[in-house]
Amino acid sequence: MRRVSVLAIFLCCWSCPLLAQQKLSVHWEELTAPDFVQAIARSGGTCLLPFGIIEKHGPHLPLGTDLLDVRYAALHAADQEYAVVFPEYYFGQIFEARHQPGTVAYSSHLQLELLQETTDEMARNGCKKVIIVNGHGGNQHLLPFFAQSQLESPHDYVVYVVGQVGAPGSLPKKTSIDMHAGESETSTMLISRPDLVHMDRAKDQSGADQARLHLPENLYTAIWWYARFPNHYSGDGSVATHEFGQDKMEHWIQAIVDSIKAVKADQTSLQLQNEFYEKAKHPLETKQ
Ligand SMILES: [Zn+2]
Repeated sequence: MRRVSVLAIFLCCWSCPLLAQQKLSVHWEELTAPDFVQAIARSGGTCLLPFGIIEKHGPHLPLGTDLLDVRYAALHAADQEYAVVFPEYYFGQIFEARHQPGTVAYSSHLQLELLQETTDEMARNGCKKVIIVNGHGGNQHLLPFFAQSQLESPHDYVVYVVGQVGAPGSLPKKTSIDMHAGESETSTMLISRPDLVHMDRAKDQSGADQARLHLPENLYTAIWWYARFPNHYSGDGSVATHEFGQDKMEHWIQAIVDSIKAVKADQTSLQLQNEFYEKAKHPLETKQ
């Protein structure tokens, strides 16, 4: 009897392409080349580029916090709504942490060129819908600029940006300042990589706002961050909890799932892009 049921399961797996499809990894680097072709078809050409950074995160969190968190969120989202997830990517804007140990800060032109070549290569491999998932606050100007720059010359694919780092959860915060390695990031790390969180060191340095610059809010200058948080720590990680991190992470994953679904359904962006590129060749003929 047992042998019959094992045989039945074997035959079903062997003959049922749907079951075989379900085994496709969401990790780009884990797929075989033939499976990659299937993965692109299954995702409808929708791929995620989780974008982290390597920088100090207070005295108690690993340098790769943003990379580890954003990949955790993106990979779990892709498990729920299938998409192919590009390997580790952390070549973003982090000049403001160059004075701290372990920061990897590539030049600004390389950041843009590498990102362009990366999305070009993703698209050449069938990712006609590239969703960049931002995991690092210092990228919040870079990524919309990069997306805008796709109108500079024609592309046969669309770049989307999930710009918000993390997502507001439903639980109240205990702290008022929480911009970097504080309550939120320490809590989400307790979900993504609890083994790398050193809670006992969270108070070894100060994450207080040093408020050393006095300018109107709408007047921007690059040194603002160093003026306020020179320790590259903003907030208090010692109040972090697993429950708070779980809530935030669930909201972040859901926001990415919603974005993947919206992007899969979007047939308009590429069509309008193509129309725009064509009109941009001869603007004097544009009627309205
Ligand atoms: Zn961070």
